[in-house]
Amino acid sequence: MLVMDTAHFKQKLTEERKKLEGELKSVGHINPHNPADWEATAADLNTLPADKNEVADTIEEFEERSAILKQLEIQYNDVKEALARIESGTFGKCAVCKEDISHERLEALPTAKTCMQHN
Ligand SMILES: [Zn+2]
Repeated sequence: MLVMDTAHFKQKLTEERKKLEGELKSVGHINPHNPADWEATAADLNTLPADKNEVADTIEEFEERSAILKQLEIQYNDVKEALARIESGTFGKCAVCKEDISHERLEALPTAKTCMQHN
């Protein structure tokens, strides 16, 4: 069996998590009622422009932020899950066949949950 250098991946994933947290903070904030949930920063209704078209732009911007946030949140959760797998000792094992995921694949995609065959 291959000895997995989890410290290396842990460092990579921790850096990735930090980067994603920064990006998440630029488009949203943590839900005060649920620390595991991020929500896009809402348009401030008190400062909504008077112009109808500008209001539409503001809403559109919010929808864009929501879409970006949703994507970031998926990546962020993948990174968090990969870090949890490192802690539980299941990192680098395919979720389907339980075989080792190749080092090359993990190097390219540390959040990979499956081997190439079960991708
Ligand atoms: Zn597999």
